Amino acid sequence: MHRPDPHSYYDAAQPKARRLRLKLGVDFAAKRIDGEVVLEFGSAITGPLDLDTKGLEIHSVQVPGHGPIPWELGEADAILGSRLRLDMPQGAQEVTITYRTGADAMALQWLEPEQTEGKVSPYLFSQCQQIHARTMVPCQDTPNVRVAYQAEVNVPEGLTAVMSAGPTGDEALGNGRHVYRFTMPQPIPSYLLALAVGRLESRDLSPRARVWAEPETVAAATWEFAGVEDMILKAEGLFGAYPWDRYDMLVLPPSFPYGGMENPRMTFLTPTLLAGDRSLVDVVAHELAHSWTGNLVTNASMEHFWLNEGFTVWAERRILRILHGDDATALGWAMGQKALEDSLERFKSQPKLTLLRMHLEGIDPDDAFSSIPYEKGARLVAALEREVGEDRFLRFIREYMDAFRFTSITTEQFCAFVAAKLPGALEAVNAKAYLDKPGLPDTAPEFRSVQLDTITVLADSWVDGGRPSAHQIASWKPAELQVFLQKLPRNLSQADCAWLDERFQLMGRGNYEILVEWLTLAAAADYEPAFPRLREVLLRVGRMKYLRPLYGALGRHARTRALARELFAAASPGYHGLSRRVVQSVLETYPD
Ligand SMILES: [Zn+2]
Repeated sequence: MHRPDPHSYYDAAQPKARRLRLKLGVDFAAKRIDGEVVLEFGSAITGPLDLDTKGLEIHSVQVPGHGPIPWELGEADAILGSRLRLDMPQGAQEVTITYRTGADAMALQWLEPEQTEGKVSPYLFSQCQQIHARTMVPCQDTPNVRVAYQAEVNVPEGLTAVMSAGPTGDEALGNGRHVYRFTMPQPIPSYLLALAVGRLESRDLSPRARVWAEPETVAAATWEFAGVEDMILKAEGLFGAYPWDRYDMLVLPPSFPYGGMENPRMTFLTPTLLAGDRSLVDVVAHELAHSWTGNLVTNASMEHFWLNEGFTVWAERRILRILHGDDATALGWAMGQKALEDSLERFKSQPKLTLLRMHLEGIDPDDAFSSIPYEKGARLVAALEREVGEDRFLRFIREYMDAFRFTSITTEQFCAFVAAKLPGALEAVNAKAYLDKPGLPDTAPEFRSVQLDTITVLADSWVDGGRPSAHQIASWKPAELQVFLQKLPRNLSQADCAWLDERFQLMGRGNYEILVEWLTLAAAADYEPAFPRLREVLLRVGRMKYLRPLYGALGRHARTRALARELFAAASPGYHGLSRRVVQSVLETYPD
């Protein structure tokens, strides 16, 4: 037995599934999916086969020509769930499992109509990363295994289903139900399985890109993401032809716990990106870049998550630089630096979680999630790029994509490849310090620009009375204002808050990065005029990136702690399970 992924029962001595055939019946009343999955192996197999499940009710397990076969569901582990062991008969090429999802399947969020923009129909979306596909489908839930899939999704008439796959048709069943069919010919890791069902409309953005959203938001989404084809072209210039045929996007309801999720052919996005001024489309650049870094070349397990995210942050800023220039990119790196410092502070008593090469046996990958694999990882990639030069590094990236397309790799495989292609580079940048030592190495690359330096000096002078001039205030773009706010001291007075709000009109901002940075400062200052807006944001938005700092800042004062507890009690039924866990962990750090 060899279990290469600490977060899966997958046994490398056993055969890998090659393809899944799914039938998913979506039951909004019961908040369950009645599922059937066929795992195809592509050749005859035999003997024990271990699958991951969590909270699933297994109804039957059959092999064509053999009928029902023996199976055993192991004890439930809090992180991994239950091992489903099948005993495959001689010559079996596939196995069919019928099952039902559990009441608290982490992959699935079931929204009441009131939690959607339209408020008329329920909504379902999935989020399988990090290890939640097993709450939706019994499978080898590890990136070590890649599967193509086809699916039939049965939903109430009037609702539309989308998946991380190409649509191949739909039909009304005449009984109030409608079937949507999909196929994903390219092999993907299980965490990229994705499904959403709701009242959806779409608009074409280019011959290969489309945006989906509720009818109430589709026009705003179309405008916000109109530039996506240009981004795809720039990304192709860097990394080669787009490998997934279509690039569609789905704007989800506000409880979506992430900024974006790179589900292939159908990126999932938070509606907080709809700033109205296209100022937050860097998240789209990030999810698009995952089409190569992450989805095409994938981390072998969450212990190597930096291979997905570090490369993608680097790629995102490479795309940003081509589109918006060096100054905008330096601001992007500065925002990342702030996120990195916040995460290093959060894990200061768990330095193990600040390594890039993580050791996660017995650790829930959602608890290890932070900006570190993103930003520390991106700094290692940038250090390698600086060491060998941009042209050589871009050639290297193309070689890397070619060598590992549609495979899942470890940090060790990456290092061996770099050693072969860029001899001496790992030693020159002291890669070991990034991979195996806590914190950020002193030698990590810095990203500066005159504009960023000006903002930094100004923010640093705040305590001595330094304030931006009316001219600066009028000329700043959203990213400059965001970085300025991020660099301000965390303990502003109420008078400081009043000054900032008056000069920058912060309370009414539609750019959530600015709004949340401002509300974080205001919450930490116990600044009462911001409470109504705080209430509004925390009751509406479930994006973890925003909940963590806001609830954290509310912990400073007795009055704001009471407000936080009251808001969490009211908001938590509407939060995703992942978001709820994050807020609970923050509230546990409150005194009293
Ligand atoms: Zn990412």
